[in-house]
Amino acid sequence: MNNTALKIQVEKIKVSKIDQVDFDNLSFGSVFSDHMLVCDYKNGSWEAPKIVPYQPISLDPSAKIFHYGQSIFEGMKAYKDENDEIFLFRPLDNCRRLNISAKRMAMPELPEEFFMEGLTALLELDKDWIPRNAGSSLYIRPFMFASGTGFHASPANQYKFIIATAPSGSYFAGKVKVLIEEKYSRSANGGVGYAKAGGNYAGQFYPTQLAVEKGYNQVIWTDDNTHENIEEAGAMNIFVRIGDTLITGPTSDRILDGITRKSILEIAKDEGIATEVRKITVSELVEAAKKGTLKEMFGAGTAAVVSPIATFGYRDTDYDLPELENSYASRLKKRITDIQYNRAEDPFGWRFKV
Ligand SMILES: *Cc1c(COP(=O)(O)O)cnc(C)c1O
Repeated sequence: MNNTALKIQVEKIKVSKIDQVDFDNLSFGSVFSDHMLVCDYKNGSWEAPKIVPYQPISLDPSAKIFHYGQSIFEGMKAYKDENDEIFLFRPLDNCRRLNISAKRMAMPELPEEFFMEGLTALLELDKDWIPRNAGSSLYIRPFMFASGTGFHASPANQYKFIIATAPSGSYFAGKVKVLIEEKYSRSANGGVGYAKAGGNYAGQFYPTQLAVEKGYNQVIWTDDNTHENIEEAGAMNIFVRIGDTLITGPTSDRILDGITRKSILEIAKDEGIATEVRKITVSELVEAAKKGTLKEMFGAGTAAVVSPIATFGYRDTDYDLPELENSYASRLKKRITDIQYNRAEDPFGWRFKV
């Protein structure tokens, strides 16, 4: 895509770091591509985005990000097909969600063309950083934070929007063991759970550490009021298969509107799988596990795509899920990744060629 509407100044790196990277042994999000996109908000408007070498940023100690946590992000991926063509998956949805998050955190919304044109210009420049290996992709991290200064507890008057990218292998290996959390909450009615706000993650770390100490990998969040409904799996949306019906909770103030979640729902319908979007109670889950009708549970999100759950713990009991051949999780993961990597038709119009 070459759109000349927006002038993006480019400062290229002097010597590329790409030769230092072992593309056959990539972990997730720990090496960074040569360039990043930076855009500053000052005096009530966004300045033109620039592409510069990936580098540290200098901030005043009173920058409001440090004190009041105005910080939001997105997570997306760029995929390369066999012919080295580059694709994004529903990128406008990430752009729109960034602005939903911005609004909730009293931060300025970013014009869509800054996001889309900035991102495509960055990907064109760093296209050699997009891995070709199966399961690998270029993880893209757009984020915005308060760079404006002052100890006064009020929204900042300056912000930075950055897009940084990291060639990455697949996120999780193997099935996870999760604990249904009844004391701590990730989000609350009227809160910021539906925004991709950095602080939501900070708040998850401690309860997750406690679960890890008990031998689990992740926490299943329940609603903050009754703790009777399961809501998300760590930082992923959660799906449950009872009998042959695939169920996920409705999005709300507390449940993030995941792009993977809504895509999986549409793919499942297209595959003729019965789906339900409704509350899932813990007691329903336990009962189904006891009866043997609970066939699958999995998390869904951009990073891991689909992350199958092997066991869930509730109060002092662990419930194992069966090992299924041709599970919904594996079928749906294949369908969505085949679309993302341009290995299959895209009847939904989700693929975006860069
Ligand atoms: C990002 C995120 C998801 C997944 O969203 P995707 O758009 O599918 O990547 C789910 N839950 C939470 C809390 C998240 O932050």
